[in-house]
Amino acid sequence: AVRVRFAPSPTGFLHLGGLRTALYNYLFAKKHGGSFILRLEDTDQTRLVPGAADNIEHMLEWAGIPPDESPHRGGPRGPYLQSQRLELYAQATEALLKTGAAYPCFCSSQRLELLKKEALRSRQTPRYDNRCRNLSQRQVAEKLAKDPKPAIRFRLEEEAPAFQDLVYGWNRHEVASVEGDPVILKSDGFPTYHLACVVDDHHMGISHVLRGSEWLVSTSKHLLLYQALGWPPPRFAHLPLLLNRDGSKLSKRQGDIFLESFAAAGFLPDALLDIITNCGSGFPENQMGRTLPELVAQFDLTRITCHSALLDLEKLPEFNRLHLRRLVSNETQRRQLVEKLQLLVEEAFGSQLPDRAVLDPAYVERIILLRQGHICRLQDLVSPAHAFLWTRPAVGRTQLGAISEQVDVIAKRVLRLLEGPGASLTQDVLNAELKKLSEGLPGTKHSNVMKLLRVALSGQPQGPPVAEMMVSLGPKEVRERIQKVLS
Ligand code: GLU
Repeated sequence: AVRVRFAPSPTGFLHLGGLRTALYNYLFAKKHGGSFILRLEDTDQTRLVPGAADNIEHMLEWAGIPPDESPHRGGPRGPYLQSQRLELYAQATEALLKTGAAYPCFCSSQRLELLKKEALRSRQTPRYDNRCRNLSQRQVAEKLAKDPKPAIRFRLEEEAPAFQDLVYGWNRHEVASVEGDPVILKSDGFPTYHLACVVDDHHMGISHVLRGSEWLVSTSKHLLLYQALGWPPPRFAHLPLLLNRDGSKLSKRQGDIFLESFAAAGFLPDALLDIITNCGSGFPENQMGRTLPELVAQFDLTRITCHSALLDLEKLPEFNRLHLRRLVSNETQRRQLVEKLQLLVEEAFGSQLPDRAVLDPAYVERIILLRQGHICRLQDLVSPAHAFLWTRPAVGRTQLGAISEQVDVIAKRVLRLLEGPGASLTQDVLNAELKKLSEGLPGTKHSNVMKLLRVALSGQPQGPPVAEMMVSLGPKEVRERIQKVLS
């Protein structure tokens, strides 16, 4: 069975890069009827960020790609937090010590620091010189007496086997000569990433490892560990990086790429999933507007190429507009949008809300339907340009007088227009009627009539088309606002 995992370290909140790795794992799992697992790699206790673990799981759920097994949900192969699996790493280490594939290292941190400094001074990659590799049993026993909790290192003696990455093809990395023997278990009993990852992927029955390409070079090391432990390795598929359009690192230019911030700014999960899949490979073609079920259906791991995915976040509002319109067209979703917008209006205008029924669901729904094509986010409907929909503007007589000397005449004629069958006036009819109204006023420009009405209704020089404003507000509210400008 296909079992894949997203294994972030809770050293920060979930960001777009992480979301993309998680999504590809999710798509692959769902495509093959498999399981998507969230495992938190919290072995570096010094780098933990409070709240990050919860944030990661919560944001995956928000994005609509909840894990099947996770720290919160549990599952048959848990626990899903590495700090709760120390026993398993200790067992694996024990097994490696027994066969001689691992050995205790008594080098002091000062010595290691010195090695590093020397290497850097001669412009070489720091490399452990494997000093403790060949200690005799007696030496080990002596040192253990003084230092009962040494770090354990893995003996990288074998040549790393070549492996076929499902994205990058055949690979083999000369790990032994480059870094020296890596620590697998620290003196505090916590494993390092390499051991923990191998042990967990094995015990969790992971079939495919889909992770960022920055781990490609570590894979040879992992394969040697699998070999030494006598375990069959999973298949590997490394995912190309997600970068800004200009090739720079995502976090560098964008600053805030946390999912939380996108959610708070009113971006829809589907829009985010859509944009991060549209800039990369893995699909027969790129196509804006795909929903999650469509992504699952069209995803094809063999189509992932090694090219970095270049993300153009400036397009996100466009993606969001598309997905917002899709939600509006669905009655159940639209009802949820109405509720969301009611909350946003209350939040934004709270005490200023008049006793007018602006929060009436039918009114809120009408606004959404009329404005959907013009906004990118639901939030846009509480922007200053849209405030007139929820609160009455304060309009000064001088402000109107500056637009036209005919304020009263125009106002009265508009009021007459709205009498009688006014309730059924459509935008088209209103536009025609207003045109006629202007023509009946020699010396007054149509554009000024419209400008005057716009300011009288909204207090703003810019906004939606005047006829749309009138339809939005409804004849009764329009009458009241126009009445107010009469001297
Ligand atoms: N904890 C690693 C990370 O945060 C996971 C790497 C892996 O998936 O093996 O990138």
